[in-house]
Amino acid sequence: MFHLEVNQLHKSYGDTKVFEGIEFGIRKGELVTLLGPSGCGKSTLLRALAGLTPVDGGQVRVAGEDITWQAPQKRGIGMVFQSYALFPNMTVWDNVAFGLKMKPQPGRELAASVQEALSLVELDGFELRYPNELSGGQRQRVALARALVVRPRILLLDEPLSALDARIRRSLRQQIREIQQRLELTTIFVTHDQEEALTMSDRVFLMNKGEIVQSGTPEQIYTQPANEFVASFIGHYNLLSPEQANRWLGGSRNAKLALRPEAIALLPQEASPPEPHLPGVIRHQQLLGNIIRYQVACEAGLLTVDVLNRSARDLLPVGRAVTLAVARDQLREVA
Ligand code: ADP
Repeated sequence: MFHLEVNQLHKSYGDTKVFEGIEFGIRKGELVTLLGPSGCGKSTLLRALAGLTPVDGGQVRVAGEDITWQAPQKRGIGMVFQSYALFPNMTVWDNVAFGLKMKPQPGRELAASVQEALSLVELDGFELRYPNELSGGQRQRVALARALVVRPRILLLDEPLSALDARIRRSLRQQIREIQQRLELTTIFVTHDQEEALTMSDRVFLMNKGEIVQSGTPEQIYTQPANEFVASFIGHYNLLSPEQANRWLGGSRNAKLALRPEAIALLPQEASPPEPHLPGVIRHQQLLGNIIRYQVACEAGLLTVDVLNRSARDLLPVGRAVTLAVARDQLREVA
């Protein structure tokens, strides 16, 4: 049985439909990311689950209990927002203790709960600081502690790392994942960042225009895009029209072909490998650190090819003639 179950959830603002017929189930202890472009409805869906935005129809169940119309503070759901939403005139301790305002407890228990939540996010010793005495990453950890202090049944995180710089973002996402796994906390994490989604999640729900267009493990989403939208949103896929694909590979397919940039091998011009191949010329070259990203003009169009940057020899100049090769099992037809 699912810990969180959503059936036929609808939400519109006036004539604008935000989402319709949303259905999913999340198991206890699972971390699911809602991934999708800006404006696709991720935040509204999350706020609807938290009870902050009323829905127009459908059902939300936690551990079998229908909470669709329950007040937010009764739901046992913790939420963390992109903007830390801390009280500037309250210390770290008081900000976290505020999470318990709706759940009065004797002073000793309250102190123990707050200390435990602060330890979880590794902020012991910061109790008496004010938010303006903390870095962005620390503020977000306070916000996380405030959500965790009530021991929520579900944790919802709405782009919690977007305002932070890349290094802090990476370390905090690892920390969130570790805490979530340690507490076996059923969690939904909203992001528009595919790397974040692929590295953190048990499963990814990919949203577009108010619909979940594909759900699966990061590996499934990355290697088996269900349609053109998923292929174009994830991993810089090359999309070949049926004509381009047929010209190169023969056959008479009607569907587009999706091809990952790292699934194409860049060989010397004179190479004649057993796999399907064709000649090309390097048009652009971009060094991304450990990866070199080439744009190669060939009969099938301008293809993106990623090569691991192992040595200076891997860096080929613009204008170099090459042979592109790809294994047939790397080709994926998409609707
Ligand atoms: P995301 O989180 O994926 O960026 P949102 O859930 O914030 O997307 O928004 C989805 C759509 O709903 C957008 O078109 C947005 O303009 C619209 N929307 C969100 N909140 C409101 C509101 N309070 N009133 C009217 N439209 C809204």
